[in-house]
Amino acid sequence: MKVAVFSAKRYDRELLAAANTTAGHELHFFDDLLDPSTVVLAAGCGAICVFVNDVLDEEVLAALAAGGTHLVALRCTGFNNVDLKAAAVLGVRVVRVTEYSPYSVAEHAVALILALRRKIHRAYNRTRDGNFELDGLLGADLHGCTVGVIGTGKIGRVFARIMSGFGCELIAYDKFPSADFERMGGRYVPLRELAARSHIVSLHCPLTPETHYLVDAGALALAKPGAILINTSRGGLVDTEAVIASLKSGQLGALGIDVYEQESDLFFQDLSSSIIPDDVIQRLVSFPNVIVTGHQAFFTREAVGAICATTIASISDYAAGRPLAHEVHVGG
Ligand code: NAD
Repeated sequence: MKVAVFSAKRYDRELLAAANTTAGHELHFFDDLLDPSTVVLAAGCGAICVFVNDVLDEEVLAALAAGGTHLVALRCTGFNNVDLKAAAVLGVRVVRVTEYSPYSVAEHAVALILALRRKIHRAYNRTRDGNFELDGLLGADLHGCTVGVIGTGKIGRVFARIMSGFGCELIAYDKFPSADFERMGGRYVPLRELAARSHIVSLHCPLTPETHYLVDAGALALAKPGAILINTSRGGLVDTEAVIASLKSGQLGALGIDVYEQESDLFFQDLSSSIIPDDVIQRLVSFPNVIVTGHQAFFTREAVGAICATTIASISDYAAGRPLAHEVHVGG
């Protein structure tokens, strides 16, 4: 099958090509982000393969369908960038990677916590400059902390298990509680209680209309003074302006983010020689108690290998008319 691969970085090209060795699909790689101006590149391809920031709104999906594309293979878990209703109407089927090393994202969330809590990012810069002073690097134990997990799905539960190993108390909020989380000693509480009691809050729920700005000025006002907020899920879960206000007032003690609402203009690109017009991200990275990573939580050998294998297998199933095990339907 002829497949247009959008937002293709060097590692996507290498690993998708490796996963495709036996399947033998005709992969056409494009650096470009998929949007109304680039959708023409997919003309004549039965399938496209896209990533988190590619735009799959009604306009793009209609252009895809008109050009003969009837399969969208997301090489990620989240599907918030796809208008599923429009896809269903247009007869465009959507598959995603439902599962790939949840350890990759959970461990990255823990890495952000440890770095912020023990000020590793500041120590790294100091010692490179020959400064071995400890002033300003006082950390705090994780042992005995209360950790609030929002979303106890695959990633949230792995995260919770790791934090439990540090001797943290686990509380969580999820619309669909998990017995596995409770078996590891965790307890479900209302969102307001989670916000008020947690020393660390980590977001692991999907971005939906319901979860958009789940962390807003109201939620932040409830937070324990000095709490740490970690977001490795989706940028839209957090009102970034409200977070900046909370960091400035000192209510929020630290922030670790791997995702950002406006990330599609920034992430996955080297902008180190450019003037970045986004004042919000520039303000965030100027704080000593903020760490931003550019959507790299998934980026481990194990996770990327699994993503490529599942994506190619889904395309093969579609080409052969077999059932699609990882199909996304309206409503999730
Ligand atoms: P999952 O589907 O296994 O778990 C999601 C959990 O969120 C479920 O338990 C679900 O019940 C819960 N949930 C749904 N709606 C909710 C709501 N309104 N309030 C509270 N909880 C709600 O998904 P997962 O594999 O654990 O992934 C979680 C998220 O992580 C994904 O949606 C994606 O956005 C993000 N992610 C980020 C990266 C990265 O590289 N940064 C990589 C993979 C996934």
